[in-house]
Amino acid sequence: MSKTARSWAMRHAKCPRCRRGNMFEGGLYHLGSNGINLNCPHCRMIFEIEPGYFYAAMYVSYAMNVAEGGLIWVSTYLITGNNDSPWLYLATILGGLVLLSPLNFRYSRVALLYWLSPKVHYHPELDVAEIK
Ligand SMILES: [Zn+2]
Repeated sequence: MSKTARSWAMRHAKCPRCRRGNMFEGGLYHLGSNGINLNCPHCRMIFEIEPGYFYAAMYVSYAMNVAEGGLIWVSTYLITGNNDSPWLYLATILGGLVLLSPLNFRYSRVALLYWLSPKVHYHPELDVAEIK
């Protein structure tokens, strides 16, 4: 029985229960389809455990945006050598957050299911090529 590493499964947005099926269809920046699958294509786990479950991912996404905004602000400060134009900071932070929004959308849901959901556990018996 293989055991897929949790960090690898999170990076590749795999199902938290079997670590095999994709949580999302399409690529990260595939415009028009950034939808989360209803079920895991491998073990059939329902990702939205109860109606409105992913509202909690908004809080995770908010924390990610604040951290990324701070990082972009510090990077802009260091790269431009203390430029005092607020427009430069506003443009780089907003532009960076827009570019990172698909990543935040996806990984806020991944983090919610992997770290913050007491109902979701890894089942190594499902982490096989074919479920019997
Ligand atoms: Zn699964």
